[in-house]
Amino acid sequence: MKIHEFQAKELFHKYGVPIPRGKAAFSVEEARRIGAELGTFPVVVKAQIHAGGRGKGGGVKLAGNAAEVDQYASGILGMTLVTRQTGPEGKIVKKLLIEEGLPIEKELYLSVLPDRGTAKIVFMASEAGGMDIEEVAANTPERIIKVYIDPLVGMKSFHANELAYGLNLTGDPVKQFTAMAAKLYKLCTDYDCSLVEINPLVLTKDGRVIALDAKINFDDNALYRHKDILEYRDLDEEDPFEVEASRYELNYIKMPGGNIGNMVNGAGLAMATMDLIAQAGAAPANFLDVGGGASAEQVENGFRIILADPAVKGVLINIFGGILRCDRLANGVVEAAKKVGIKVPVVIRMEGTNVEEGRRILNESGLNLITAKDVSDAAQKIAAIAKG
Ligand code: GDP
Ligand code: MN
Repeated sequence: MKIHEFQAKELFHKYGVPIPRGKAAFSVEEARRIGAELGTFPVVVKAQIHAGGRGKGGGVKLAGNAAEVDQYASGILGMTLVTRQTGPEGKIVKKLLIEEGLPIEKELYLSVLPDRGTAKIVFMASEAGGMDIEEVAANTPERIIKVYIDPLVGMKSFHANELAYGLNLTGDPVKQFTAMAAKLYKLCTDYDCSLVEINPLVLTKDGRVIALDAKINFDDNALYRHKDILEYRDLDEEDPFEVEASRYELNYIKMPGGNIGNMVNGAGLAMATMDLIAQAGAAPANFLDVGGGASAEQVENGFRIILADPAVKGVLINIFGGILRCDRLANGVVEAAKKVGIKVPVVIRMEGTNVEEGRRILNESGLNLITAKDVSDAAQKIAAIAKG
């Protein structure tokens, strides 16, 4: 799960990680009031969306006076912000963060995340912080230093010192940085974060080390033990189909650019099915795993969500009936089709428990379904449909 910068900064504050003074604003009036309360200029007006690269897209502005706070707040609120991370369709800005502007001496990069390859927690840091870290990673990866921490041993001061010296910090900022790194490690592990990222981490002209930006992602599978984080969820920022699917406990992920809807049981079969679709020359529009123990109602809702996506030009249902029996699947499909109607071709490949009963239900439904004899036949048929 992703959260907004202002929420990530709230967590930073809770852990004692220094952040600029500021507050979230939901209207131009509020932005104006918070700007005035800060009592200094410049004031930074920042778009709050679940995507980075806002600065380059025009979503971060430095206001030199109250009139400019108004001007930037009204310009950014409601705008469709397009960044490297939003895709070409962009995101509508509904929230702002209004902060004191800081005099920046140097912009650094710092992140902490679990590293699957080593099963350790890794800190990544770079002197080349700011807006172009992706290019640094691609072109000059040697400018990013990495320090690995065994989670069973925990973070020690030598880890933090190695990072501080790698960043060429000297004097008091070394102390500030090492204290901050230890807090970030604790935050990352306490909350099962999949990423804590600060870009830029700034050294100010008066020698302070402050998190100017903040990004935190959480491991969804651990959210059940972080109820406070669930309150940060912002449905405005999520794909509406994914939000609806989550209501029925369906594992549904929208895949931009594709046009084949998928209904599959089991994540492994779903991945294999997407590979087959790609090999046949088409592209999946989503990943929907109805799971092993799905009810007919879940199947119905899953199918309905797939059909509601205008990007979907054909649907492939690939079921290996085990715990999810084929008759139950068939009933769910028929119910959904009755309620919403099917306007696109649907190819079904179904095997396993109660398959004969499932086929009977589908055949007698009067629905126009294309049956496939095996998985590759199904993929070929659906790809032919996708190509028109
Ligand atoms: P991002 O583009 O979405 O990553 O947004 P950031 O929060 O990183 O802001 C982008 C850039 O705006 C930063 O790299 C800074 O150069 C600039 N910026 C943000 N806040 C301040 C500030 O308080 N003072 C100054 N001088 N620049 C700032
Ligand atoms: Mn940033």
